[in-house]
Amino acid sequence: MKLIKRLAICLIAVSLVFLIPFNRIPPLLTEAEAQVKHMVSPSPAAPSPSPANSRKMPDNAKMVKYPENGLPVLMYHSISTNPKNNLCVSEEQFDAEMEWLYSQNYYTLSMDEFCEALSDGASIPEKSVLITFDDGYPDNYKAAWPILKKYDFVATFFIITGTVETSSGMTWEQLKELVQGGNSIGSHTVHHHDLSTLSEAQQEKELGDSKKILEDNLGINVKAICFPSGKYNESTLRILPTLGYKVGVTTKGGDARRSDGQFTLCRIRIFGGMSLAGFKTKFQ
Ligand SMILES: [Zn+2]
Repeated sequence: MKLIKRLAICLIAVSLVFLIPFNRIPPLLTEAEAQVKHMVSPSPAAPSPSPANSRKMPDNAKMVKYPENGLPVLMYHSISTNPKNNLCVSEEQFDAEMEWLYSQNYYTLSMDEFCEALSDGASIPEKSVLITFDDGYPDNYKAAWPILKKYDFVATFFIITGTVETSSGMTWEQLKELVQGGNSIGSHTVHHHDLSTLSEAQQEKELGDSKKILEDNLGINVKAICFPSGKYNESTLRILPTLGYKVGVTTKGGDARRSDGQFTLCRIRIFGGMSLAGFKTKFQ
Protein backbone atom coordinates (compact mmCIF):
# COMPACT_ATOMS: atom_id res chain seq x y z
CA MET A 1 0.00 0.00 0.00
CA LYS A 2 2.81 2.37 0.95
CA LEU A 3 4.53 1.60 -2.35
CA ILE A 4 1.40 2.48 -4.36
CA LYS A 5 1.09 5.75 -2.45
CA ARG A 6 4.73 6.56 -3.19
CA LEU A 7 4.29 5.74 -6.89
CA ALA A 8 1.23 7.99 -7.06
CA ILE A 9 3.15 10.80 -5.41
CA CYS A 10 5.99 10.37 -7.89
CA LEU A 11 3.53 10.49 -10.81
CA ILE A 12 2.04 13.73 -9.51
CA ALA A 13 5.54 15.09 -9.11
CA VAL A 14 6.54 14.22 -12.68
CA SER A 15 3.31 15.66 -14.13
CA LEU A 16 3.81 18.82 -12.08
CA VAL A 17 7.29 19.26 -13.52
CA PHE A 18 6.00 18.91 -17.10
CA LEU A 19 2.66 20.73 -16.77
CA ILE A 20 3.82 23.94 -15.10
CA PRO A 21 5.23 26.26 -17.76
CA PHE A 22 8.41 27.93 -16.59
CA ASN A 23 7.13 31.46 -17.23
CA ARG A 24 3.94 31.02 -15.23
CA ILE A 25 3.75 31.48 -11.49
CA PRO A 26 2.86 28.06 -10.15
CA PRO A 27 -0.40 27.81 -8.23
CA LEU A 28 -0.24 27.44 -4.49
CA LEU A 29 0.50 23.86 -3.70
CA THR A 30 -1.54 21.73 -1.37
CA GLU A 31 0.36 20.30 1.57
CA ALA A 32 0.64 16.90 -0.14
CA GLU A 33 1.92 18.45 -3.36
CA ALA A 34 4.34 20.60 -1.45
CA GLN A 35 5.68 17.44 0.13
CA VAL A 36 6.02 15.87 -3.32
CA LYS A 37 7.77 18.95 -4.66
CA HIS A 38 10.13 18.74 -1.77
CA MET A 39 10.79 15.11 -2.63
CA VAL A 40 11.50 15.71 -6.30
CA SER A 41 13.63 18.80 -5.82
CA PRO A 42 15.66 18.26 -2.67
CA SER A 43 17.79 21.09 -1.39
CA PRO A 44 21.42 20.88 -2.50
CA ALA A 45 23.41 18.31 -0.58
CA ALA A 46 25.12 19.76 2.46
CA PRO A 47 28.90 19.88 2.01
CA SER A 48 30.53 16.92 3.65
CA PRO A 49 32.40 18.00 6.78
CA SER A 50 35.97 18.80 5.91
CA PRO A 51 38.44 16.67 7.79
CA ALA A 52 40.81 18.46 10.13
CA ASN A 53 43.70 20.32 8.55
CA SER A 54 42.35 19.91 5.01
CA ARG A 55 42.05 23.64 4.42
CA LYS A 56 43.55 24.95 1.23
CA MET A 57 46.05 27.77 1.42
CA PRO A 58 44.85 30.79 -0.56
CA ASP A 59 45.65 30.49 -4.31
CA ASN A 60 46.49 34.15 -4.77
CA ALA A 61 48.79 34.51 -1.76
CA LYS A 62 52.50 35.16 -2.17
CA MET A 63 54.19 32.09 -0.71
CA VAL A 64 57.36 32.45 1.35
CA LYS A 65 59.67 30.37 3.53
CA TYR A 66 59.52 30.86 7.30
CA PRO A 67 60.71 34.47 7.70
CA GLU A 68 64.09 35.07 9.39
CA ASN A 69 62.56 37.86 11.46
CA GLY A 70 59.83 35.55 12.69
CA LEU A 71 56.07 35.14 12.57
CA PRO A 72 53.40 36.60 14.85
CA VAL A 73 52.06 33.98 17.27
CA LEU A 74 49.19 35.54 19.19
CA MET A 75 48.56 34.48 22.78
CA TYR A 76 45.02 34.63 24.09
CA HIS A 77 43.55 33.10 27.25
CA SER A 78 39.88 33.63 28.07
CA ILE A 79 37.41 35.31 25.71
CA SER A 80 35.15 36.96 28.26
CA THR A 81 34.54 40.29 29.92
CA ASN A 82 36.43 40.85 33.18
CA PRO A 83 37.93 44.34 33.53
CA LYS A 84 39.89 43.18 36.59
CA ASN A 85 41.80 40.52 34.66
CA ASN A 86 43.56 41.66 31.52
CA LEU A 87 44.03 38.05 30.38
CA CYS A 88 40.31 38.15 29.58
CA VAL A 89 39.67 39.60 26.13
CA SER A 90 36.04 40.53 25.46
CA GLU A 91 34.15 38.98 22.55
CA GLU A 92 33.84 42.45 21.00
CA GLN A 93 37.60 43.06 21.16
CA PHE A 94 38.41 39.60 19.83
CA ASP A 95 35.90 39.98 17.00
CA ALA A 96 37.36 43.37 16.01
CA GLU A 97 40.89 41.89 15.98
CA MET A 98 39.85 38.91 13.85
CA GLU A 99 37.90 41.19 11.52
CA TRP A 100 41.01 43.35 11.03
CA LEU A 101 43.20 40.27 10.31
CA TYR A 102 40.56 39.12 7.82
CA SER A 103 40.45 42.55 6.14
CA GLN A 104 44.25 42.40 5.79
CA ASN A 105 44.07 38.93 4.16
CA TYR A 106 45.92 37.17 6.96
CA TYR A 107 46.04 33.37 6.80
CA THR A 108 45.71 31.51 10.09
CA LEU A 109 48.11 28.57 10.21
CA SER A 110 47.28 25.20 11.72
CA MET A 111 49.98 23.85 14.05
CA ASP A 112 50.93 21.29 11.37
CA GLU A 113 51.45 24.06 8.82
CA PHE A 114 53.43 26.09 11.36
CA CYS A 115 55.66 23.08 12.21
CA GLU A 116 56.24 22.22 8.56
CA ALA A 117 57.26 25.81 7.80
CA LEU A 118 59.45 26.14 10.90
CA SER A 119 61.21 22.77 10.77
CA ASP A 120 60.86 21.38 7.25
CA GLY A 121 61.13 24.54 5.14
CA ALA A 122 57.57 24.37 3.76
CA SER A 123 56.22 27.53 2.14
CA ILE A 124 53.39 29.50 3.73
CA PRO A 125 51.42 32.60 2.71
CA GLU A 126 53.46 35.77 3.31
CA LYS A 127 50.75 37.10 5.63
CA SER A 128 50.52 34.20 8.07
CA VAL A 129 49.67 34.24 11.75
CA LEU A 130 49.33 31.54 14.41
CA ILE A 131 46.54 32.16 16.91
CA THR A 132 46.90 30.37 20.26
CA PHE A 133 44.74 30.04 23.37
CA ASP A 134 46.13 28.93 26.74
CA ASP A 135 44.35 26.97 29.48
CA GLY A 136 41.39 25.59 27.47
CA TYR A 137 38.65 27.71 29.05
CA PRO A 138 35.05 26.73 28.20
CA ASP A 139 34.62 30.18 26.58
CA ASN A 140 37.22 29.22 23.99
CA TYR A 141 34.58 26.92 22.52
CA LYS A 142 31.51 29.04 23.30
CA ALA A 143 32.82 32.52 22.43
CA ALA A 144 36.08 32.29 20.46
CA TRP A 145 35.25 29.44 18.07
CA PRO A 146 32.08 31.05 16.61
CA ILE A 147 34.08 34.23 15.91
CA LEU A 148 36.99 32.29 14.37
CA LYS A 149 34.53 30.38 12.18
CA LYS A 150 32.94 33.62 10.99
CA TYR A 151 36.25 34.58 9.36
CA ASP A 152 37.18 31.04 8.29
CA PHE A 153 40.05 31.12 10.79
CA VAL A 154 41.59 28.37 12.89
CA ALA A 155 43.63 28.42 16.09
CA THR A 156 45.68 26.20 18.39
CA PHE A 157 44.21 25.46 21.82
CA PHE A 158 46.64 24.50 24.61
CA ILE A 159 44.77 22.20 26.95
CA ILE A 160 45.40 21.34 30.63
CA THR A 161 44.18 17.76 30.45
CA GLY A 162 43.32 17.65 34.18
CA THR A 163 40.62 20.30 33.60
CA VAL A 164 38.88 18.64 30.64
CA GLU A 165 35.26 17.81 31.57
CA THR A 166 35.42 20.13 34.63
CA SER A 167 33.86 23.57 35.06
CA SER A 168 37.18 25.23 34.14
CA GLY A 169 37.75 23.25 30.95
CA MET A 170 36.09 22.21 27.72
CA THR A 171 34.51 18.81 27.20
CA TRP A 172 35.98 16.10 24.97
CA GLU A 173 33.01 16.58 22.61
CA GLN A 174 33.78 20.28 22.31
CA LEU A 175 37.46 19.58 21.71
CA LYS A 176 36.54 17.01 19.04
CA GLU A 177 34.41 19.64 17.33
CA LEU A 178 37.31 22.10 17.38
CA VAL A 179 39.57 19.47 15.79
CA GLN A 180 36.91 18.64 13.20
CA GLY A 181 36.76 22.35 12.36
CA GLY A 182 40.48 22.38 11.46
CA ASN A 183 41.80 23.68 14.77
CA SER A 184 44.88 22.26 16.45
CA ILE A 185 45.28 21.03 20.01
CA GLY A 186 48.49 21.32 22.01
CA SER A 187 49.47 20.28 25.52
CA HIS A 188 49.51 22.67 28.48
CA THR A 189 50.48 19.72 30.75
CA VAL A 190 48.17 17.73 33.07
CA HIS A 191 48.16 19.97 36.18
CA HIS A 192 49.55 23.35 35.07
CA HIS A 193 52.50 23.09 37.50
CA ASP A 194 55.59 25.26 37.05
CA LEU A 195 57.76 22.73 35.18
CA SER A 196 61.00 24.35 36.37
CA THR A 197 60.19 23.29 39.95
CA LEU A 198 59.55 19.62 39.10
CA SER A 199 62.00 16.72 38.96
CA GLU A 200 62.88 15.30 35.56
CA ALA A 201 60.66 12.27 36.23
CA GLN A 202 57.70 14.47 37.22
CA GLN A 203 58.19 16.65 34.15
CA GLU A 204 58.31 13.58 31.93
CA LYS A 205 54.99 12.47 33.39
CA GLU A 206 53.30 15.88 32.98
CA LEU A 207 54.52 16.25 29.40
CA GLY A 208 54.07 12.60 28.36
CA ASP A 209 50.71 11.90 30.03
CA SER A 210 49.04 15.08 28.74
CA LYS A 211 50.20 14.34 25.18
CA LYS A 212 48.95 10.75 25.34
CA ILE A 213 45.59 11.69 26.92
CA LEU A 214 44.93 14.26 24.18
CA GLU A 215 46.02 11.86 21.43
CA ASP A 216 43.96 8.94 22.76
CA ASN A 217 40.80 10.97 23.27
CA LEU A 218 40.96 13.05 20.10
CA GLY A 219 42.73 10.75 17.62
CA ILE A 220 45.33 13.40 16.81
CA ASN A 221 49.09 13.80 16.90
CA VAL A 222 50.09 16.41 19.49
CA LYS A 223 53.17 18.32 18.37
CA ALA A 224 53.14 21.45 20.49
CA ILE A 225 53.64 22.24 24.16
CA CYS A 226 52.89 25.51 25.92
CA PHE A 227 54.75 25.85 29.25
CA PRO A 228 52.51 26.77 32.22
CA SER A 229 53.35 30.39 33.11
CA GLY A 230 56.08 30.17 30.48
CA LYS A 231 58.39 28.29 32.91
CA TYR A 232 60.79 25.50 31.90
CA ASN A 233 64.40 24.41 32.46
CA GLU A 234 67.19 22.43 30.80
CA SER A 235 65.49 19.11 31.66
CA THR A 236 62.29 20.22 29.94
CA LEU A 237 64.14 20.97 26.73
CA ARG A 238 65.94 17.62 26.90
CA ILE A 239 62.71 15.65 27.46
CA LEU A 240 60.51 17.28 24.80
CA PRO A 241 62.05 15.74 21.63
CA THR A 242 62.17 12.27 23.24
CA LEU A 243 58.37 12.45 23.68
CA GLY A 244 57.78 13.52 20.07
CA TYR A 245 57.13 17.21 20.59
CA LYS A 246 58.16 19.48 17.71
CA VAL A 247 57.35 22.96 18.98
CA GLY A 248 57.29 24.75 22.34
CA VAL A 249 55.92 28.20 23.04
CA THR A 250 56.72 30.48 25.97
CA THR A 251 55.19 33.70 27.30
CA LYS A 252 58.24 35.74 26.26
CA GLY A 253 57.13 38.63 24.07
CA GLY A 254 57.93 39.04 20.38
CA ASP A 255 57.60 37.34 17.03
CA ALA A 256 58.46 33.62 16.92
CA ARG A 257 61.93 33.43 15.36
CA ARG A 258 63.58 30.16 14.42
CA SER A 259 66.78 31.47 16.03
CA ASP A 260 65.03 31.43 19.45
CA GLY A 261 64.90 27.61 19.23
CA GLN A 262 61.96 25.43 18.24
CA PHE A 263 60.97 24.79 21.90
CA THR A 264 61.39 28.32 23.20
CA LEU A 265 59.39 30.44 20.77
CA CYS A 266 58.12 33.91 21.69
CA ARG A 267 54.51 34.99 21.41
CA ILE A 268 52.57 38.24 21.33
CA ARG A 269 50.36 38.60 24.40
CA ILE A 270 46.97 40.15 23.64
CA PHE A 271 45.58 42.01 26.63
CA GLY A 272 41.98 42.74 27.45
CA GLY A 273 41.42 46.44 26.80
CA MET A 274 44.17 46.64 24.16
CA SER A 275 43.07 49.12 21.47
CA LEU A 276 42.73 48.00 17.87
CA ALA A 277 45.47 50.52 17.00
CA GLY A 278 47.69 48.77 19.57
CA PHE A 279 46.82 45.38 18.07
CA LYS A 280 47.75 46.57 14.57
CA THR A 281 51.22 47.67 15.73
CA LYS A 282 52.01 43.98 16.43
CA PHE A 283 51.90 43.34 12.67
CA GLN A 284 54.36 46.02 11.51
ZN1 LIG B 1 48.35 28.55 31.48
